[in-house]
Amino acid sequence: MSAQSPSSHEIAVCRGVEAQTNCRFAMPMEPSLVAGIASAVGESGWPDFLRAHVVGPILHHHAFRIAVAACPNGCSRPHVADVGIIRACIPALDPEPCTSCRLCQKTCPDGAIVMDTNGPIFDYSQCMRCGLCVARCPERALDCSQSGFRVVLGGKLGRHPRLATEVVGIHPAECLPAMVAQCLDFYMQQYRKGLRFGTLMEEQGETLIEALENS
Ligand code: SF4
Ligand code: SF4
Ligand code: SF4
Repeated sequence: MSAQSPSSHEIAVCRGVEAQTNCRFAMPMEPSLVAGIASAVGESGWPDFLRAHVVGPILHHHAFRIAVAACPNGCSRPHVADVGIIRACIPALDPEPCTSCRLCQKTCPDGAIVMDTNGPIFDYSQCMRCGLCVARCPERALDCSQSGFRVVLGGKLGRHPRLATEVVGIHPAECLPAMVAQCLDFYMQQYRKGLRFGTLMEEQGETLIEALENS
């Protein structure tokens, strides 16, 4: 895991994001994604805003933290970041080439697959969108019906820890910089001394999440 550390924000990425071949769980993603998110933070005005609102040096707890993970194992800790971005794939079956070999069922870490006479059936309430079954199928009978990213907001550690809240849906990579910018815009509009983004999410998170889900 590594992190870029400009003083106003941090972007933590798992080693599967850095080089997908470094981790067998990593799903493919555009190498330019993290740079695009970093640009969106800069263009949002957040670095200058923070500099203008903090007396003295900008410290670690002032930084807006973004974490990107190439699978739901979340080694970059997206659920305790201000914005967590998690690669996701919703699996779907093409029954024609399926030989009912059960490899997908044996591969699934979450028990989200049961077999019937036509092949696998997915329990999407248990499925973590990891894509392992899709990668494992020898017949290419599985593919992602939706491929993109989960987005979770407002996680934090510290004295009052909080797990991030999920924005419903699988979000395309090209939408992520704008979503991060929208979060920062909301934060800057509501900002008061000492307010952490996770606390703002506790107070007014529904407003932001509704706006993101409708944008
Ligand atoms: S989050 Fe997933 S892809 Fe990234 S390093 Fe951890 S296990 Fe590998
Ligand atoms: S791994 Fe592929 S071929 Fe085997 S049961 Fe699953 S979908 Fe069918
Ligand atoms: S995507 Fe992952 S969790 Fe979902 S059914 Fe496939 S292997 Fe299981």
